[in-house]
Amino acid sequence: QARADRIQTRSFSPADQSILDRHRQLDRDLRRALERNQLRLNFQPQVDLKSRRIIGTEALMRWDHPELGPVSPAEFIPLAEETGLIVELGRWILNEACEQAAAWPSPVTVAVNVSPIQFQHVDLASAVSRALRSSGLPASRLELEITESSRVTDPGRVHAVMWQLRNLGVRLAIDDFGTGYSSLSYFRDLPFDLVKIDQSFVRNRTSAEDHRLLAAIIELSTKMDKHTIAEGVEDEPTARLLTEMGCTYGQGYYFSRPISGEDFTNLLSQPPRQ
Ligand code: C2E
Ligand code: CA
Ligand code: CA
Ligand code: CA
Repeated sequence: QARADRIQTRSFSPADQSILDRHRQLDRDLRRALERNQLRLNFQPQVDLKSRRIIGTEALMRWDHPELGPVSPAEFIPLAEETGLIVELGRWILNEACEQAAAWPSPVTVAVNVSPIQFQHVDLASAVSRALRSSGLPASRLELEITESSRVTDPGRVHAVMWQLRNLGVRLAIDDFGTGYSSLSYFRDLPFDLVKIDQSFVRNRTSAEDHRLLAAIIELSTKMDKHTIAEGVEDEPTARLLTEMGCTYGQGYYFSRPISGEDFTNLLSQPPRQ
């Protein structure tokens, strides 16, 4: 009886159909949005935890759908990865981020999320080098955030491309650190500069274990000569704790939500507080 129930719930339902329809619509409209320049980047400041100065920013994709309203990148990026549109989308993000950053009033870094699919299906190093050349942004001001993915079928290629990127002079960060399966072997196998600690370790710390785990990630990274940035910093006690633990940078709603390019430019033009 119970088994029959489970089979029942697994069969194709009207709800599945509506998810499928939404995905089909999003896929079609995302192509159109890309062609018509309806996508935007928002920027979330990254601060040095000791001085509290802005040292960089993460570029985050925004899509305001004409009928459906704002669609989260958490929904449309995985879709674009499935359909392959991420390749074109990724190129757009890279060019747009470099162009905007080149015009900012101070030489902060801009971090761009790179999908593992881009490692597999495009000559990423050439795309990056073209974006730098046409924008005039120095390579040292571009950071690429890379996540582990089960979709990567050729880890050897990821390794080779990371070396090419590093030789260009861009900075490399491991995004969502600690959530994957092979985080520790990264230290041995991959060339990168920065560990980006996943917000699940930073927000809602409830137990002494959570606290020690966060401290251990920072300590390990520091011992391996990597800078650390914590994401999801939502209050002052967390910022203070991270500073005491030796974390280098912070990012999160406490410092700022992701904001428009215009607002970020204005923020950079303001004199530092105090
Ligand atoms: P992510 O790279 O881990 O980005 C961090 C997400 O956490 C962002 O959500 C950001 O708005 C949110 N966040 C930042 N600070 C806080 C905080 O203090 N508290 C909480 N609760 N959340 C915070 P967002 O912008 O919705 O992006 C979601 C995901 O979509 C990103 O996760 C990234 O995986 C993907 N994504 C976004 N833009 C791009 C892009 O241009 N390219 C690629 N490949 N992926 C992107
Ligand atoms: Ca990221
Ligand atoms: Ca992240
Ligand atoms: Ca994430």
